[in-house]
Amino acid sequence: KREQEDLQSLEGRISDLDLKSSEIKLFSDLPFSQPTTSGLKASHFTTLTDIQASAIPLALKNNDILGAAKTGSGKTLAFILPVLEKLYREQWTEFDGLGALIISPTRELAVQIFEVLRKVGRYHAFSAGLVIGGKSLKEEAERLTRMNILVCTPGRMLQHLDQTAGFDADNLQILVLDEADRIMDMGFQRDVDALVEHLPKSRQTLMFSATQSKKVSDLARLSLKDPEYVSVHESA
Ligand code: ADP
Ligand code: MG
Repeated sequence: KREQEDLQSLEGRISDLDLKSSEIKLFSDLPFSQPTTSGLKASHFTTLTDIQASAIPLALKNNDILGAAKTGSGKTLAFILPVLEKLYREQWTEFDGLGALIISPTRELAVQIFEVLRKVGRYHAFSAGLVIGGKSLKEEAERLTRMNILVCTPGRMLQHLDQTAGFDADNLQILVLDEADRIMDMGFQRDVDALVEHLPKSRQTLMFSATQSKKVSDLARLSLKDPEYVSVHESA
């Protein structure tokens, strides 16, 4: 009962959120769930970076996003927090299967994303895993069906979606493509296209990159729906 009231007030605060407001400077200015608020506090994050201040409010309001900001500007939290909040607001549980998929071009970046997810998401009850190869397909497959959030590289994830019995992404709520420019540069376009074919069309998609390029907008056209473009420029 109490939880229902919290969810309702959270939804209310999100719809009341003024996207044009320049008052959004702190994480505490945003309508986050209690577990996210605690995770941010425990991780000592207080002030939003520019890309976070621009992208997170739009993402909380369920928009698709194409975000561009240079390396080091804090893009990871700009998608991890909306992912956690989305599943929290859907009251996602272990029985609901895969709710969020985060695609990264390299294993190393996937591991970094996973670490941030574990840190800031520590007070949430979701299960999360890495799918980056390195273990046998069978070993990975056994844990896969129990995961709510997966951080993956494109090729390995596609292998599982094509081959792992009992595993699907039919219920997916939110897809993230991180480092979209590198995903394209590394030749993963076909894998990502094939991956997206496995996902439900009614989902939210967040795409981030360090640079804007023709290749990135090609990928955006394929996977995003009426995206909001958020780009943060270096201040001189
Ligand atoms: P990007 O993906 O844009 O290259 P990251 O998400 O990897 O950037 O963040 C770069 C660094 O900034 C990380 O060490 C991260 O912990 C830190 N960081 C991110 N957001 C904040 C914030 N709001 N306040 C303080 N440090 C932050
Ligand atoms: Mg990054």
